[in-house]
Parts: sequence; structure tokens; C-alpha cells
Amino acid sequence: MKVEIARVLNPYPAGDTNVYIINSEVVFDSGINLPESVEALKNSLRNSELDFDSARLVISHPHADHFGSAYLFSNVFAHENSCWKLSDAEESYFRLVYAHFISEGMPLKLARLMEERVKETYRGLVLPCSKCGKVGNRVRAGDDILEVLHVPGHSYGHIALYHKESRTLFSGDIMLDGITPNPVIEPVNDHERLEIIDLYIETLKKLYSLEIRRVFPGHREIRRPHREIIREYLESFEQRSFEVFRHADGRNSFEIATSLFGRNRQVFLIMTETIAQVDFLRDKGILEKRNGKYFRSADEEDLKELWTGIKERILREA
Ligand SMILES: [Zn+2]
Repeated sequence: MKVEIARVLNPYPAGDTNVYIINSEVVFDSGINLPESVEALKNSLRNSELDFDSARLVISHPHADHFGSAYLFSNVFAHENSCWKLSDAEESYFRLVYAHFISEGMPLKLARLMEERVKETYRGLVLPCSKCGKVGNRVRAGDDILEVLHVPGHSYGHIALYHKESRTLFSGDIMLDGITPNPVIEPVNDHERLEIIDLYIETLKKLYSLEIRRVFPGHREIRRPHREIIREYLESFEQRSFEVFRHADGRNSFEIATSLFGRNRQVFLIMTETIAQVDFLRDKGILEKRNGKYFRSADEEDLKELWTGIKERILREA
């Protein structure tokens, strides 16, 4: 399997997006829609003797830094949950997310302001991609077959590609070195959400059991065993659980988020991270919700036990 890497400028903190060209046929992620990024992408494709018309683009997940310039390609594939987000550049998704932020205590004025800002900045970073098809279970790239793994957690419609013969994983953002990808909430409608941390944990379990020799991540590089990174992720989720638990003394999600992280951190990220945690803890009987506020309904020992059980179940997989 021949893998070429194009590093495409990305203004987000994770740093440049890695675009992978596999056997000069399949492109995994396109990068963001900024002029310099598109230029870098086009140059790399030219060097690889692959053009936009014949290339098959597979999108790891529907975030601007991974699909912003997908509109340039004629053949685009993604998880079925991602296609509608690509088609309207996530507009309907953001509308739902802000409805949830408001119902979790974000002041209306702030939510509207943020929503407007997202619309404005996002519009420059992505263009709608109207020709997205469902990716299916495998992707053929020349003589190589890549298995499509559904790896929800950072985004529900997140996929990774796995090449079994060489034990290679193209991970997108589900595995990055030095960053724990945010459990971004996934609204089903304006009042229901998926249990995103549970999904994340199942994904980590699946990846932990997988034999992986090389990971090609969505940003930066990974030069150490993937199981080491998964163990770090579990530690950081557990730590976050405890922090949210300790702040849940009659606060709503917005109040927990701002008292925990302060207002200077990115509000979108701290809100999704907090909501994902209160959903998780409430589902496990650790927190309860009354009149929009969260209260502890178990003690720290119960929470410790919950995480010990989760970690044992995953680490047993290897
Ligand atoms: Zn990313």
C-alpha cells in the first residue's frame, strides 16, 4: 500500500490536517476550505498524478478541518450520518446543538451570538458538498482493501480505515497524540441526544482490541503504541467525570462548564464536553436532574467503581 501525506493548513488548535492519498486512488479527508489549504491539497494531488475527477474522497467525520473542501471532488463518501452534515455544511446540526445549549442553561443571548458567529466563520471554512454517498463496509484502493470501522465518539458519523495486511489504521480524529478529542454532543432532535460517552467508550474498546502497527492520524503523528494513547484517553475521561461530578451541586450544564473551565476557554467545546459528561453520569445514576439543575445522587466511591469497571472491561481486550 502506497501512502502519501499532504499536510494542509488548519487554523484550529489541533494543527495542520493530514490528507492521505492511498495508492493514488483514494483520498482520506480533504482539509479545510481556506485558499492556502486548497492550494496545498491540489499540489499534492498533482504530484500524486491523481485528479479531482477520478479521485474517490472518503471523509473521516463532518468537521470543517476534515471536509471543508470536499466540494472539489466528484466522488465523495462518508458515514451515512455524515452525509446530511456535509450537504448543508453542518447548518442544521449546529441549529440543533444550540437548541441543546439553551436548554442546558446557556443564556439565550450568548447562544444566538455564538450561533451567528459560527455561521459566519464556518461559511468560509466549508462549502456544502451535495454529492455524498454512503461509504459502506470497505473501500478498495488499487489492490488493497480497507475496512471501514464506525468509530463514534468525537462525532457520531466518524469512520476510520483499517488495512488488515499491514495493520495500519487511518484514524481521523478518534486517535491523536497529545490531544483527547472532544466528545461532541449528537442531538437526535431538539430534546434528545445520543449517549456519546458510552459510544466513545465502545469505540475505545474496539480499537484497543485491534492489532495496530501504524496509525495515520488526522493531525500530527503517532509514534507510540495505540493502546498507550487509549489508556490516556480513559484517564482523562475519568478525571473529567470527577470534575463534573464535584461541580454538580445544583448547577445547570452551562454553570458547571463555566465554573469548571472558566469563560476564557472555547465555550462550544466546554459546553459539549460538560453536557456529554452530565448525560453519562445521569444515565449511570451518579447524577440526577431536577428543574434543569444537576445534583449528586451517589458518592465518589460509586464513581470510582464505575470507572474501574469500564477500564477493566477495555484493558481485558488486548
Ligand atoms: Zn480535526
